[in-house]
Amino acid sequence: MKDLSTRTLNIAASLTVAIDTLAKQMIADGKDVVSLGAGEPDFPTPTPIQDAAVNAIREGKTRYTAPVGILEVRKAVAEKLKVENGLDYKPEQIIMTSGAKHAVFNSLAALVNEGDEVIIPAPYWVTYPELVKWLGGKPVIVNTKIEDGFKIKPEALKAAITAKTKAILLNNPCNPTGAVYSKAELEALSKVIVEGDIYCISDEVYEYFTYDTEFCSAAALPGMAERTIVINGFSKSHCMTGWRIGYDAAPAEIAKIIGKIQGQATHHPSNVAQYAALGALQMDKSNVHAMQAAFRKRRDYMLKRTAEILPEPCRAPEGAFYLFAPVKSFYGKKTPEGKTINGSIELCEYLLQSQGLAIVPGAAFGDDSCVRFSYAASDETLQKACDRFIGGLKELN
Ligand code: GLU
Repeated sequence: MKDLSTRTLNIAASLTVAIDTLAKQMIADGKDVVSLGAGEPDFPTPTPIQDAAVNAIREGKTRYTAPVGILEVRKAVAEKLKVENGLDYKPEQIIMTSGAKHAVFNSLAALVNEGDEVIIPAPYWVTYPELVKWLGGKPVIVNTKIEDGFKIKPEALKAAITAKTKAILLNNPCNPTGAVYSKAELEALSKVIVEGDIYCISDEVYEYFTYDTEFCSAAALPGMAERTIVINGFSKSHCMTGWRIGYDAAPAEIAKIIGKIQGQATHHPSNVAQYAALGALQMDKSNVHAMQAAFRKRRDYMLKRTAEILPEPCRAPEGAFYLFAPVKSFYGKKTPEGKTINGSIELCEYLLQSQGLAIVPGAAFGDDSCVRFSYAASDETLQKACDRFIGGLKELN
C-alpha cells in the first residue's frame, strides 16, 4: 500500500479529546471515574436555545445554507460584536463554523503558507501547534512564566518575530492557565503586532468567564481590526459543546477566503445549530452570569482543596474554567506498585488507574510541570475529584 499523508501522520492526536473519550467510555462500561478532563460545562443547553433548534427543524430549516452561514445569524453575531465588544463587522465578515476549533482551523488555513511561522505563547491549548503543523506552518512556541501571570510580554513577542512570522495565536482568556490580558497589556502587545506587520488570531471563546479582569477583544485596539481574526463559539458560553457552532470574524478579504474553504470542505455548519446559535444570541445573559458566578465559586474551591496537598500554590485563574496545578514536586516518587512517576503523563495515568480521576497532563499544553483540571463540573464532582487527587498523591512515596 502507498504511504498515507505524512503531514497528517506527523500531528499528534488531541489529548483533551482522547482523555474525555476514554473517561466517557470507562463510565459507560460501569467504572467509577470522575472526569475533569475536557472543558465541558455541566449545565444543560438553555431552554430558549433548545426551542430555537426544535422550531427550526419543524419549520423545515434543514437544508443547505450558504457556506458562510445564514445571513440572519451572521447579522446577529455582528450586532453582538458591536454591542458587547465595540467591534465593527459587516455580516459578510462573519463566517459561521462547526465550533471554535473549526474557526481556528479556518483562520490558519486562510493565512499559513509552507514554512510560515506562527507564534504561540505557552502554555497553549493543545490544538494550536498541531493545526499549524498540519497546514505546513511552523509553530514558534514562546514560553511564559507563572510570575508574569502566564502572559506573553511585548519584548518576548518582538524577539520571536522574524521575516517568516505570519501571525500570533492568542487565547484570551487562556486555556489552560486562566490568564486574562487586560486592555493595557493587549495594547502593548498590539503595538508590537502592528509594528511587526503580522496577523493576530484571537480565540475569545472564554470571553464571558473572567473573574477579576475585564475582558477586552484584541481586535478593539488601534490598528488591530484589519489584521485580527476573532474566534468565538457557543460551546462554553451557552453549554452547547455537542452542537458544534462557532464563528470567525475577519477582515473582508480573509472572510472571503474562509468562505471558499468552507464551501469546499464542509459546505457549512449545521443549519439547525445555526438557528440554535441565533437563539443563544437573542437570549438575555442571565444564564451566562449565573455560570460565571458558579465557576468563580468552583475556582475558589479548587484553589483551596489543591492547596491541601500541593507545596507550590496554583496561580488563581483570572478567567476560563481550568486550574493549572504545579505537580512537579511529586515527580521521582513511586506509586504503591513501585512505578516511578516521571512526568505529567505518568501522573495522570496513575491517577486514572488508581483513583478513577481523569485530568489532563500539562505536557499536552507545553508545560510538563503541571496538570489541568476543568472546574466546569458540579460541586459534588469537584469534591470527589479533589478527594481522589489528594488521596492519590498521598500514596506516592
Ligand atoms: N476545549 C476543551 C478542552 O480544552 C474541549 C476539548 C478540546 O476540544 O480540546 O478541554
